[in-house]
Amino acid sequence: MSSQPHTVLPWVVRRTRLPLLSLRCVDCRSESATTGEGRFRVNANGKRLDVWLLVRCVSCDRTSKLSVHERVPVRSFDPAELHGYHVNDPELVASRLLDPVLARRNRFTLDWTGAWQLDTPARLDEARPVLVEVVFDDPVPVRPDRLIAKGLRLSRNEVLRQITCDIPLHRPTSQGFAFTVMAVD
Ligand SMILES: [Zn+2]
Repeated sequence: MSSQPHTVLPWVVRRTRLPLLSLRCVDCRSESATTGEGRFRVNANGKRLDVWLLVRCVSCDRTSKLSVHERVPVRSFDPAELHGYHVNDPELVASRLLDPVLARRNRFTLDWTGAWQLDTPARLDEARPVLVEVVFDDPVPVRPDRLIAKGLRLSRNEVLRQITCDIPLHRPTSQGFAFTVMAVD
């Protein structure tokens, strides 16, 4: 019998809303902030622009500004991008919020709890082995063993017995990977 998987199933990890930010409030010490609908503030300073993304404490509503661009010459902006900042384009809000550079510069991490889902084909009743390819539409950090257990409705021990994976199972990742569900006797 061949052990080559004959079925390839796609799984997709994607966000269902914007994640919260783990960011300490200077007023109430809460560690959770939200972008809400998402608003930028653009401030002209001569021929240079500052752009901030506004976030608000989920406990006390205090607004803080995350630096997106600092003193950048107006002419070096892509006009479409600049327009996006002025109209609070939701796609631009998402792409800036999810950009690791913004998180590093403003010292926050993203809290993805309840903000994402795993889309899987309805059933996994094909003859095994089955190859599953996991793709990430959004950079949600997941532990492969937990994701696979959730998607296959197995315990993590069963996952260890029934699958082989091309990356370490315990290390969180946001990069696509593949695993094979082996035949069980
Ligand atoms: Zn607060």
